[in-house]
Amino acid sequence: MISPGPVHDSLTAGIGATPLVRLDRVVDGIAAAVHVKAEYANPGGSVKDRAAHAMVTAAERDGRLRPGGTVFEGTSGNTGIGLAMVAARRGYRCVLVVPDRTAVEKIALLRAYGAEVVLTPGTVPQHDPRHVRRLAERLAAETDGGWLADQYTNPANPLVHEHTTGPEIWAQTSGRITHLVSGVGTGGTISGTSRYLREVSGGRVRIVAADPATSRYSGGDGSPYTVEAVGHYLNPDTVVDEWPQTYDPSVVDEFVQVPDGDAVRLVRRVAREEGMLLGGSSGTALAAGLQVAAGLGPDDVVVVIAPDSGRAYLSKYFDDDWCVRLGFVDAPDGPRVRDVLP
Ligand code: PMP
Repeated sequence: MISPGPVHDSLTAGIGATPLVRLDRVVDGIAAAVHVKAEYANPGGSVKDRAAHAMVTAAERDGRLRPGGTVFEGTSGNTGIGLAMVAARRGYRCVLVVPDRTAVEKIALLRAYGAEVVLTPGTVPQHDPRHVRRLAERLAAETDGGWLADQYTNPANPLVHEHTTGPEIWAQTSGRITHLVSGVGTGGTISGTSRYLREVSGGRVRIVAADPATSRYSGGDGSPYTVEAVGHYLNPDTVVDEWPQTYDPSVVDEFVQVPDGDAVRLVRRVAREEGMLLGGSSGTALAAGLQVAAGLGPDDVVVVIAPDSGRAYLSKYFDDDWCVRLGFVDAPDGPRVRDVLP
């Protein structure tokens, strides 16, 4: 019997209900089951499709976003892709303010969905009117029918994970999950998913936050790190150590600090050994997950959230020269490219 896959009336109906994939190669010597929640399988390619869709839908419901309106956000990342995708589907204009050093591929991707991109200096302090979030705020306020998604304060961001990601994981593991492992960016994913899992399990599921080694969330000094979109660092031009309202630190039972090199080497290994191409923040989460799982028994079930795919990072984590330059691998170790044989 084949499993035919769902039929959707609309693209946005395909957001969520992502697969849970059990790993069996990189878990050598580990008795516990380790599963990856494959958020890269969302239509826009990341976990942020859930939040983007939920924020737009909530704004429509309470009248803040109306037909003919414009969606604004300050983001260079996956939230921008999710918003651009949902805006295209729902017929809104979408304006994304991005730091001027954003990779050309990312800007091209946002524009492919029809979003307008506004570049602004990425190094100005948070209170500067040119700062990514301040500029997005101002443009939204000055635009007739403008609405700012604001993923760092919008309650629809954590809520969608409480209503979807958490219940999906519970059902997919038939209630057997014992450990949830997730990174923290806006904190939407970990806060919402954990709230549901703690509640439904009567507090039995242990919540592990995977954090880049110098991130402030786990008590690091806030110095810069390489893995994108997770953790909290202190911008040298910014003195404010302000954490997002969407992150509820009380859900976390345990932090595991993951050095950049561990995350990078792991995603390279997972691609070659499991055939699964993951982004850097998935590497951070999985490294923490494997570390925790190593101390567990055969009845334990660890679920690691993988926010996006490695496709967006081919010129970084999967580039041998880049990895050698940053000291993450000693020497190029990828398969060679050969010219056409004579
Ligand atoms: N990883 C990636 C690749 C992301 O884009 C994000 C979103 N910033 C996260 C992790 C963290 O997710 P959240 O914002 O829900 O904490």
